[in-house]
Amino acid sequence: MKYVEGLSCKECHRGYPIAAQHVCEFCFGPLEVTYDYDALASAITRAEIEAGPPTIWRYECLLPAPEEQRVDIGAGFTRLREAPRLAAEIGLKKLWLKLDGGNPTHSFKDRVVSVALSAARFFGYEVAACASTGNLANAVAAHASATGMTSVVFIPSDLEAGKIAATTVYGGKVVAVEGSYDDANRLCAELAGSRPWAFVNVNVRPYYSEGSKTLGFEIAEQLGWRCPDAIVVPMASGSLYTKVSKGLIELHRVGLLPEPPHTVLHGAQAEGCSPIAAAFEARLDEVAPVRPRTIARSLAIGNPADGVYALDTARTTNGSITSVPEQRIIDGMKLLARTEGVFTETAGGVAVSALEQLVGRGSIAPTDEAVVLITGIGLKTLEVLGKPEPTHRIYPSVEEVDRIFDEPAVVQIPEQVEA
Ligand SMILES: *Cc1c(COP(=O)(O)O)cnc(C)c1O
Ligand SMILES: [Zn+2]
Repeated sequence: MKYVEGLSCKECHRGYPIAAQHVCEFCFGPLEVTYDYDALASAITRAEIEAGPPTIWRYECLLPAPEEQRVDIGAGFTRLREAPRLAAEIGLKKLWLKLDGGNPTHSFKDRVVSVALSAARFFGYEVAACASTGNLANAVAAHASATGMTSVVFIPSDLEAGKIAATTVYGGKVVAVEGSYDDANRLCAELAGSRPWAFVNVNVRPYYSEGSKTLGFEIAEQLGWRCPDAIVVPMASGSLYTKVSKGLIELHRVGLLPEPPHTVLHGAQAEGCSPIAAAFEARLDEVAPVRPRTIARSLAIGNPADGVYALDTARTTNGSITSVPEQRIIDGMKLLARTEGVFTETAGGVAVSALEQLVGRGSIAPTDEAVVLITGIGLKTLEVLGKPEPTHRIYPSVEEVDRIFDEPAVVQIPEQVEA
């Protein structure tokens, strides 16, 4: 934590020492970690980062976690893969997928939890807790187990079976709350006052949210230390969206990118839970909470903690925050699977559909180089695809196969090519 200065209020900019504290005592604004960028600028180099581990910890200088307490189960440095077939289908010249389903618990939440639990251990906590729409619960339970902490996660009682199974397997406590994510989150905010638990998205949230910056860092590094023209980010609390932007800005501030980032950031929400998109479209500075009704359960936060900051990010990057119709979410999942062989969850379906919309309405130009964040995998949200059915059922005979695929007219055996 050599370069960490402390915490600073995002509203009144009062400074605080590093502690398990997330709100300003004066104005109740959220706290954010600050760094000594000048010292960093003269200390870090691209070569040093490139020689680091293939995880988020290659950017340790820009993360608030002491080395001795580091919780590392391999989060980060996921693949940035070109997507030529999807690009062609939606009319883009160059498109990349950032495949965060490749993280240890198959979503980008491993990034934030690695940093949050490292900080939690540093502060002496033995219990890791959170309210979760699913993926965060998976990540907290796994990281806690791997570091010998106990975990207690609070989830809405009607969450997808895959997400519950992928949490209970790690042996932590899973508490189903009769209510929405927002109800579970409100409960956690109350509990943080009375229980000596590290709630990753409450009392250690300033550390948690810094983990999301690594997505911005990696995209720039993996493109050869440059920024793309546009990034499409699925949004729940809005934290990831704001931190991808912070990540790119920091790389410039510490001298790793020669120019300030020109990247336009587009946020994506599902129509059934789109409070930030609604505020953006109505040009408001406040986000009015909604009751989520979306199949994109991992994005179902009706009262987004970083909503107003996300609006700022959209405006300062000339970006936008769009919502996609509920029916288009599965279309987006299937489009990505069909063109690129990637099975994403509903949040990825939201991002891909939003990308298609943005290209369709000219917000992303055909010549732009775009990156879409694929933040989780489809195996956790199988139920949205309905009852799985094979395309055909047959008895095991050649005639049956011929019935499906037509009998071949002439039998052609591929000729042997002489070397
Ligand atoms: C949590 C989550 C997001 C969005 O996270 P926020 O930082 O809360 O906006 C996006 N995709 C997936 C798969 C998630 O689990
Ligand atoms: Zn303040």
